[in-house]
Amino acid sequence: MDYTEGKGWHDPQIVPHAPLTLDPAAMVLHYGQAIFEGMKAYRNKAGKVLLFRPEQNFKRMNRSLERMSMPQVDGEFMVDALKQLVALEKEWIPAESGMSLYIRPFVIATEPCFGVRPSHTYKLIIVLSPVGAYYANGMEPVKIYVENKYVRAVRGGTGNAKVAGNYAGALKAQAEAKEKGYEQVLWLDGVENKYIEEVGSMNVFFKVGEEVWTPALNGSILEGITRDSTIHLLKDWGIPVVEKRISVEELYEAYTKGQLEEAFGTGTAAVISPVGDLNWNGHQMILNGEKTGPLTTKLYETMTGIQYGEKEDKFGWSVEVSE
Ligand code: PMP
Repeated sequence: MDYTEGKGWHDPQIVPHAPLTLDPAAMVLHYGQAIFEGMKAYRNKAGKVLLFRPEQNFKRMNRSLERMSMPQVDGEFMVDALKQLVALEKEWIPAESGMSLYIRPFVIATEPCFGVRPSHTYKLIIVLSPVGAYYANGMEPVKIYVENKYVRAVRGGTGNAKVAGNYAGALKAQAEAKEKGYEQVLWLDGVENKYIEEVGSMNVFFKVGEEVWTPALNGSILEGITRDSTIHLLKDWGIPVVEKRISVEELYEAYTKGQLEEAFGTGTAAVISPVGDLNWNGHQMILNGEKTGPLTTKLYETMTGIQYGEKEDKFGWSVEVSE
């Protein structure tokens, strides 16, 4: 679907996957005017195809668009269009295999212009791709490096928008963490380099005693849809969720007192991802003996059960794609 200033969004169409033609001066190639979303469609044993809270993705897409001075989309139209698109491709989601259909909507600035200003034309594309089970061999806790050299987002920046540039800026830190033997980085705030923000492409939670802590949304953390769903589930189970500024010192102190029982990341790709090892400036925190903890397991099973339409969806999160 294309956008032209004065005309709005127009000409939505479904076409086979193919290379894209862009002018070499297209603004996205020079000024990073690109935002995206990530979501999944699931098919269960009964053949039912479900989307998980898709309206939330388009709400977030509009927040990202707004931050980048890009035009808004109509959320209801987008969910309807997505349902039509997924219905055409549902054969790509084999039931019972743990596979799903990854959905990547994105918007780019297409106007040819060397000049930093909002573009007058944009393209919105949704790409679909089948993805395998994230944990084909059971859940494997990840090793995480607390980043102390680079920052991902600063106050007033684009951290809480799903903007392509945020990910580009993170590549170097990811590569250096990998060299040190860690799979992901845990970002600290970009002002004091002290408070925990999020992990690569996940929000993060800590089970400390009877409570579950997660960094409060502060304008530089992405508002994860899995994060919000996790908070709903935990509260529903009567587990106190504390959304607050968490300094890495405070977390380490909880660890040394034996109160930090589990840590996990939340995000569309892995849904719930156990953290087995956290390294902060050489202070190592080994969590739950590097095994997936009971709360992490329960959350994963409940969330994926709802996503596949196999567990009660008491919050009405699933949206069925009709035949
Ligand atoms: N933080 C970042 C930076 C992300 O890219 C993602 C993935 N979209 C998340 C958190 C988790 O968000 P969600 O649960 O909506 O996938």
